[in-house]
Amino acid sequence: MPNIEKQRKNLNIRKFTKSKYTWSVIITILIDNIYYKSYHFQEIIKLKFSNVIPWFLLTFALVLIVLKLLSKLTSNSRPVFNQAINNEIFEIIDRANNEIFIVSPYIDPGNTITEKIIKRAKENIQITVIHKTDQLQKDEFQRFYNRLTATNVVFYNNPSLHSKIYCNDSEALMTSMNLLTSSMENSIESGIMLNYKDSYKAIRSHIVDILNSDQTSLTNIDNASTDLGYCIKSKQRINFNPKKPVAFHVYKVDRSQKGQYCHKCGKEYHTTINNPFCDEHSINVQK
Ligand SMILES: [Zn+2]
Repeated sequence: MPNIEKQRKNLNIRKFTKSKYTWSVIITILIDNIYYKSYHFQEIIKLKFSNVIPWFLLTFALVLIVLKLLSKLTSNSRPVFNQAINNEIFEIIDRANNEIFIVSPYIDPGNTITEKIIKRAKENIQITVIHKTDQLQKDEFQRFYNRLTATNVVFYNNPSLHSKIYCNDSEALMTSMNLLTSSMENSIESGIMLNYKDSYKAIRSHIVDILNSDQTSLTNIDNASTDLGYCIKSKQRINFNPKKPVAFHVYKVDRSQKGQYCHKCGKEYHTTINNPFCDEHSINVQK
């Protein structure tokens, strides 16, 4: 799927342009340029790089240390609970400069937050939603999907998703809360807001790992009803594929032939990897 590849490539480029090292090199070149301009210039003309390199490395190390200290000084993390989490999610969406990631297995956030996401998408913020595969069947999810994809929000799904993370360019909220109106209004939830660079980066790379996972695929609701089947061992929603009727993570721990569910309809039935269908579907589907 070229779309996924493109998105992953963009993520990597962004990671590079935002790294402390990239910025240290740029600042180092600027400082060296300003303070040692004539000196460097002469050395370079004479191809005496051995005199330039130690200065460059020294400045680079100092700049890196200063940037690291600055990011430590300006960062903090704080716990948030229950409905206060809603505000943090709003803030993360509002404060994004380039990108927003919404990682939530279950999604049905109501109009206010949907409008907010649409508004940011129209401002050219790159928004990625990762949800659990079984959401594809639900009407409320499909409505949300249809409204957001009209504005270039990209959706991915994964059958094993359980993480809930809301994240923009510089801050991440890790929480128990799904993006569901019911959770936002009534549930007892906890979370932690992180904007310390190292924690933030670890969370962001966890999101990239989810996107890169073999089980993650680009969500396409038009094909959803025909493309989805059930894992014959766990009944999870997975891609419909009679040659691979078992969720990958389940297969890793249980390689036996036996299954308990029909790959097509999910009904309890003695199935096998070679014949993953119930009576009703074994003939129809394979044709
Ligand atoms: Zn069946």
